[in-house]
Amino acid sequence: MDKRDVGSGFVISRAAVQEIMRHAKFESPRECCGLLLGSALLIEEAHAARNDSSDPRRYRVNPEDHFQAIQVARSSGRSVLGVYHSHPGKPPAPSPTDLAGASYHDYVYLIVSPQSEIEDPVSAGNLKAFWLRDGQATGVALRMESPSS
Ligand SMILES: [Zn+2]
Repeated sequence: MDKRDVGSGFVISRAAVQEIMRHAKFESPRECCGLLLGSALLIEEAHAARNDSSDPRRYRVNPEDHFQAIQVARSSGRSVLGVYHSHPGKPPAPSPTDLAGASYHDYVYLIVSPQSEIEDPVSAGNLKAFWLRDGQATGVALRMESPSS
């Protein structure tokens, strides 16, 4: 997806936010990672993946889990929109390693700083979205779906 097509940004389901927070807290202090499934600008589901990095402060999405997420998405008429990972005890901002390792230009990258019980981590600034391209991070607007939507 191209930058100019994003308009007002991505919407993420409450269920996906809860799954990302659960996964991040479960793996903390290790970083966690996973894939984001949905359509167009709606992130509907977070699909947890194994982190292949031996460094607890880095992540590398397990290739089999990545492939499986693509299969799950396709089988339900959706696609993999991006990747999420966590920054335990650090702000949700891309690290130089994140920038260097971002190999999917059409993926949106979500970074979460896991905190205890927050109703809306997106509004609280604990879950943020970025494009990571050519060694540069660009913030992308993200909001959690309202209860009625
Ligand atoms: Zn990172």
